[in-house]
Amino acid sequence: MRLRGRFRIAAAMSALILSVPIGPASAADPGAGTGQGSAVQPQRGLEAAVAAAVVGRSGTTAAALSARQQQTQVNVQRRNGPWAFGTSVITVAKGDHTAPEGWLFIAKEVNGEWTIGLEGSQPFADLVAQSPDALVGQAEKQTFVNHARNAAKSAESAMAPTGLSLPYPVGDSWAIIGGPHGWSGQPRPWSSIDLNKTFGSGAYQVLAAQSGRAYDMCRNGGHIRIVHDNGWTTEYYHLARELRPNGTPVRMGDYLGMTSTRIPCGGSAGSNHVHFGLKQGGSFVPLAGKTIGGWTYFEGSRAYSGGARRGGTTVGVRGMLRNFGPNAQ
Ligand SMILES: [Zn+2]
Repeated sequence: MRLRGRFRIAAAMSALILSVPIGPASAADPGAGTGQGSAVQPQRGLEAAVAAAVVGRSGTTAAALSARQQQTQVNVQRRNGPWAFGTSVITVAKGDHTAPEGWLFIAKEVNGEWTIGLEGSQPFADLVAQSPDALVGQAEKQTFVNHARNAAKSAESAMAPTGLSLPYPVGDSWAIIGGPHGWSGQPRPWSSIDLNKTFGSGAYQVLAAQSGRAYDMCRNGGHIRIVHDNGWTTEYYHLARELRPNGTPVRMGDYLGMTSTRIPCGGSAGSNHVHFGLKQGGSFVPLAGKTIGGWTYFEGSRAYSGGARRGGTTVGVRGMLRNFGPNAQ
């Protein structure tokens, strides 16, 4: 017993000495919630593990993705000891009428093996709860807890009001560039709508639809996700001069970026707009029947052709939507 104990101490000492040269690297890792902090150098093993999890979650294969010129992009935003947090996106081919789908991830390394939790799953919730506050701060943890609980509640009651504003100033009127359509164009659910203040080249400020935590999804920016405490998630794509948030708290009406035709993670945009998408919890849901900014949306006979109603007023594509704010019925 005594010998074994002494051996253990000796082994621990040598491990300690051996680990000294590589130790400072992890000590220098930036903490969580640093907002505009520079991206952390990813590890190959971590990147591969997250990419595999994302491909599995998307229900496709790496071969199918590469045949469609799609790639998995892993953006490690935070490291703390054996922990990592970031975003991962499946990019789409340029010119394709689709949009990139992505997930927040949390990861923990044990004996060289990475355990991955993707947003909206139980492993994600469990790992976030176990993670050190230096990786995911307490307030951000609370947002994830509130978000999951309220998403389940709103799904049960099938309530139309979302408590969300439209993504521009209350009182402003913007044009419907494209009515309800899928985040990736034709495929349902038709969760998304294309909006800009004017048709053509004007660029306008896109604002947070409600308070929450904002995340930068693509390596080259342009795609922001906000996880709202009230259980909804909103997505904003084609942004220019955009924030590069990293779990940054935002309030309703905070600036996110400008409408543009940028496609930093692929896809296409014919004229300046924000591609604004709705998720309940972590999953896209139809806009039809939901109320945002005082308007209740409906689908047309095909993607992009629907619009919105308020009282006796119906607005279709190229019509103007006045933003009545988050609580207008
Ligand atoms: Zn769109």
